[in-house]
Amino acid sequence: MTRFVDVPAMAKLIQAIEIDEFIAELTDAIEANFVRWEEFDKAARFGAHNEEGVIELMPTANTERYGFKYVNGHPENIKHDLFSVMGFGVLSDMSTGYPLLLSELTLATAMRTAATSVMAARALARKDSRVMAVIGNGAQAEFQAIGFHKVIGITEIRAFDIDPETTEKLIRNLAEFEGLKVVHCNSVAEAVKGADIVTTITADKAMATIITPEMVEPGMHFNGVGGDCPGKTELAAGVLTQGKVFVEFEPQTRVEGDIQQMPADFPVHHLWKVLAGKETGRDNDEQVTIFDSVGFAIEDFSTLEYIYKQSVQRGIGVDIELVPTPIGPKDLFTHTGRGRLRSVKKRAV
Ligand code: NAD
Repeated sequence: MTRFVDVPAMAKLIQAIEIDEFIAELTDAIEANFVRWEEFDKAARFGAHNEEGVIELMPTANTERYGFKYVNGHPENIKHDLFSVMGFGVLSDMSTGYPLLLSELTLATAMRTAATSVMAARALARKDSRVMAVIGNGAQAEFQAIGFHKVIGITEIRAFDIDPETTEKLIRNLAEFEGLKVVHCNSVAEAVKGADIVTTITADKAMATIITPEMVEPGMHFNGVGGDCPGKTELAAGVLTQGKVFVEFEPQTRVEGDIQQMPADFPVHHLWKVLAGKETGRDNDEQVTIFDSVGFAIEDFSTLEYIYKQSVQRGIGVDIELVPTPIGPKDLFTHTGRGRLRSVKKRAV
């Protein structure tokens, strides 16, 4: 049988684990697989683009498991009361091809994106970071704030969105998190001034320059999340040239990340090498570090593995017959209800 985790089951999992603990544990799970980077089959995701957005497939595998995520990005959706980003995914057993898990990945993508941001900041940001600007306060923003509060020790969020009601939503949703203050800012510059970490997580299918060179201060860490597909950026070129830039899977980020606006030989560093102890991250407290996040398949693979384990251990989610339970390896016909049942063998996977 295949484990099935839909949105209500995912909500139950999040409540059972606690959202901040979920993001913290996922941070460690993703990091463990980034350290084993060389063991994974890797390819840039396959995207189908039109003027409104993109639908993408994100596969990866190691010797034991195969995983993929289906995800979209449609910034205009919010005008029609639809989410900009939605997803689902599958985790399979490499030795049999059997699908172990079919899961919702809309909530889980927000958790994994926060976990990946936190993983990068834990390696790259100044250790004394306490104040984070969050530019773009939509669907992903709470998850980022909670992850940075729990794992990095951020105590103040300086929030800005072109839609002030969205910032008020963020403040309302984060009110219950003790020790986390959220300040409503009236401009990007006001939010960024004096921040230790700057997270940009806006949605606009445009070569935007939300962060401009004069906003950069020594020692800042930039977590650029919303510049994640061709024709969609957030950081001006003059910001990127002021810092040491870190990427997930370089061939994908060259096309999708903020560095898409830079020459092909613009120097970048690989986050997995820093996490594996093969390269240094930040060189000193004055250096500007930039995580040009686009989202890579190993993050979703790690998330699917985590969901599968938690779902089975906690008895949350259900088993479904997504593929036929074998009656005999050569008798598929009987599953149509028309064949003659020879013997029924239950198979445990
Ligand atoms: P959303 O549509 O819910 O929220 C985006 C917010 O950005 C909106 O509130 C909008 O008003 C605001 N915004 C747009 N332009 C702005 C500007 N110039 N200044 C300030 N605010 C602005 O979208 P979401 O689900 O929160 O996703 C945010 C972004 O993150 C999207 O671009 C999405 O593609 C990206 N994303 C990246 C990853 C990754 O791994 N890198 C993962 C998930 C989502």
